Amino acid sequence: MWLIIIGVLLGAASLLCLLWLGVPLMLRILQSRALVSRCGHEQLVALTFDDGPTPELTPRVLDLLDELEVKATFFMIGQRVLSHPEIAREVSKRGHEVAAHSMKHLDTWKVGPLKGIRDVSEGVKLMNEQSLSPNLFRPPRGRATLGTIFQALRCGCSPFWWTHDSGDSGFTPGRCKLGLRRFIRHGRHSPLTEQQIEGMLQKSTRADWIDEVSEVGGVVLFHDAPGDQPSLVELTLSATRELVLNARERGTRFVLASELR
Ligand SMILES: [Zn+2]
Repeated sequence: MWLIIIGVLLGAASLLCLLWLGVPLMLRILQSRALVSRCGHEQLVALTFDDGPTPELTPRVLDLLDELEVKATFFMIGQRVLSHPEIAREVSKRGHEVAAHSMKHLDTWKVGPLKGIRDVSEGVKLMNEQSLSPNLFRPPRGRATLGTIFQALRCGCSPFWWTHDSGDSGFTPGRCKLGLRRFIRHGRHSPLTEQQIEGMLQKSTRADWIDEVSEVGGVVLFHDAPGDQPSLVELTLSATRELVLNARERGTRFVLASELR
């Protein structure tokens, strides 16, 4: 009898766990496929910048986007908006889209369920208080749970991921392949070495992923916050420039992330 009860409880817990993590994963896979298909069909590119605003990089990104005459979507961390509200407002003032990226950038897989959910709502609330009114939410590290997805929707923000990683956070650049292994490893990658980054900087004009996005479109993940390796900042700027110039040459149209919802 006890064995049956334990078995049922274990089964229920496994099912709950599967739904908690599996539904967001399915959503991400489905959205990624839909984005690839729509961007490819209409030749669209959305530039997205995560983890700002920061005084070190956001103003440089804004100046570059002005020079290139292109608009982008900035997924901001609440705590950084609180530290640099004037930069956050400047992003919006220059015609870019502002979206939510949680309050403290907590990895929802590593914190308690309520903490992860609170991180979402506090981030959106803070941005609303600053009159930034986001309507998209990007889960930190791309990781979400059923709880964080529901909370984002409750706060009026649709979850939004990406199709291509620029590699400027020290991740291998290219199309995001959402196999289970990649999904589990995401966020636990070891940083690229300085030598590898230097190599990426030198061949950025010929990088395969820039060629691919220029040709078939996509949603590209960049960062407007400097990480541990200073050379990655230069990669953000040079890859943005190369992508915009290459894509424009091939007739690709740039859109804001919310236009692809
Ligand atoms: Zn992030």
